[in-house]
Order: sequence, then structure tokens, then C-alpha cells
Amino acid sequence: MTRPAFIRPREGLAAIIDGKAAAAAIDARVAQGAQALAGQLGRKPCLAVVLVGDDPASDVYVRNKVRRTEAAGMTSLEHRRPASLSEADLIALVKTLNADDGVDGILVQMPLPAHIDARRVVEAIDPAKDVDGLTAASAGRLVLGAPGLRPCTPTGCVWLARQALGDLSGLNAVVIGRSILVGKPAALLLLEQNCTVTLAHSRTRDLAGLCRSADILVAAAGRAEMVRGDWIKPGACVLDVGINRGETGLIGDVAFEEASRHAGFITPVPGGIGPMTIAMLLVNTLDAAAARRDLARPDILSG
Ligand code: NAD
Repeated sequence: MTRPAFIRPREGLAAIIDGKAAAAAIDARVAQGAQALAGQLGRKPCLAVVLVGDDPASDVYVRNKVRRTEAAGMTSLEHRRPASLSEADLIALVKTLNADDGVDGILVQMPLPAHIDARRVVEAIDPAKDVDGLTAASAGRLVLGAPGLRPCTPTGCVWLARQALGDLSGLNAVVIGRSILVGKPAALLLLEQNCTVTLAHSRTRDLAGLCRSADILVAAAGRAEMVRGDWIKPGACVLDVGINRGETGLIGDVAFEEASRHAGFITPVPGGIGPMTIAMLLVNTLDAAAARRDLARPDILSG
């Protein structure tokens, strides 16, 4: 099969899946889709982002999301509130955005201050605007295989695996981590692709042995370089979701150099899954904007 240019072969080592370049390609397709959709809607698709408090990492994420939304020709509305905001006032803000016909997608940046119950806030989001795919309604649709908005990070993982390996039917996939944000939806999305999926977690026995059976390995534990080279099945596609802060910068959950000697394909950290997450957020915003008006969903992810 011919692979896209963002998958870069290396002599004797795993090909690098360049998530930054892949995300740029998706962003460009979203921009085309957004322009076409704007013609039908009479306005640009619109994403509202809510940031509570002044966590520096969240501030960087939100600024990146706003920049990329606008660069893709969509409107970005930023709602910044102090860390002292009450849960009731945050839910009231979400409800105002639900009712605003000019808003297609709502994202509440996590983590929220400790006095706010994040689950209650997420559940206040209209599922039609749930571009993070985190409401119970979206999760239920994913389990049922019904159309709906899917969580961004695992959607990016599965899309990259398909670009690297083609049809994923019958492949063994191991997902490390069972969070609602990444691990669980990654397992369900891989199942949807007809993989045989094992969902591993902190109580899993013989994790290394399990990983050695994986044609696709998704590492989302948040443990720096936990996955060693000899855990990797020769030729496997390794998707490293982990973001750990080390002395030299960001480090993934996979020991990259070691794993590169065994894997067929690997995502780096940074520059792998991270940029794909925002690309999928833009895709979801476009999708939500179209679906809310019963318009055809722009097909960004096929091919
Ligand atoms: P989380 O803490 O909610 O979940 C971690 C999961 O890993 C848990 O299910 C736990 O059982 C499992 N785990 C922990 N230690 C383990 C071990 N030793 N062996 C096996 N399993 C173990 O984290 P999360 O929100 O799912 O995020 C996971 C990682 O992905 C973090 O590093 C996070 O920063 C990163 N992340 C990256 C992106 C991105 O866009 N690249 C998005 C979300 C999360």
C-alpha cells in the first residue's frame, strides 16, 4: 500500500508517524469543509471554549485550540472565568451556550478547579455540541456503534493506525490505560475497526507479555517510558499517547529509541498524538455544525 508522506520510513528502524504533519493535512481538509459549510449555514462553524482558572498548561492548550480553529476558517469564542467561579455559574454558562444557535461545539477545558464536579459540568453539555465526545450520551452512542461525536485523542490514534496499516480487521490491539478520556474509547474504536482488543490497566498481569502480542499498541498510562523495546512485537504500530514532563522536556509512555528498533511504525512525543487531538476537535466541530442542521457531514477522515 502507498502511505501518506507524513509516515516517514527510516532505514532499519520503525517509520515515524509525524503527527504534526498529519494534523496539518487534516486541518487543511477541515478548512475546505468549513468554507463549503459556511456557504450553507450563512456563517462560519463555531466552537466555544470555556477555560476556568489560570492553569498554565490549560492556557497553552486553549490558545492552541483557538489558533487552529480560526486558522481553519471557523469562529472561536473564548469564555475565560476565574478559578473562583461556582459550579452553578459554570453550568449556567454551558446552558447559555447550548441555547445559542450560533454555537456548534462546546469544549470545557479540563482540569476544572477542585470545588467543581467535572462530570456534572460535562453532562450539562448538549450532546449535539459535545465536540470532546465525553457526555454519557456520546459514550453510549460509541458503545452502540451509533453515529455521534467521538473523543478526539483516541479517534486520532485509530486514524493514524489506519494510515500506517490499512485495514485493521483481525489485528490484535492492546490499549494500556482505561480512562474515560483515552483508554476506554480507544478500545471501542479499535473494536469498531474489527480488531481483537485487550484493554490493559494498572492491575493487568504480565503487561509486557500481553504487549508482545499487539499488532497495534496504544500506550495511555501516563508513565514515562514504561513500555520498553522488548515489549514490542516486530513490525507493530505503536501509538504513544502519554505526556510526561521530564527534565529534558516532554516524554512519552514508550521508550522511543528502544521501541524504534522493534516496531514498524511509531509516534514520537512531542509531535505525535498531541497535534492529532486538536485536528480531531476541529473535525468534530465541523461534524457537529453539519449534523445540527441535518446537512451531510463533510467526509474528512476517509481515505
Ligand atoms: P488517567 O490517569 O486518567 O489514566 C491512566 C490509566 O493508565 C489508568 O486507567 C490506569 O489504570 C493505567 N495505568 C497507570 N499505571 C499503569 C501501569 N503501570 N500499568 C498499566 N496501566 C497503568 O490518564 P489519561 O487521561 O487517560 O491520560 C493518559 C496519558 O495520556 C497521560 O500522560 C496524559 O497526559 C496523556 N494524554 C495525552 C493526550 C494527547 O493529546 N496526546 C490527551 C489525553 C491524555
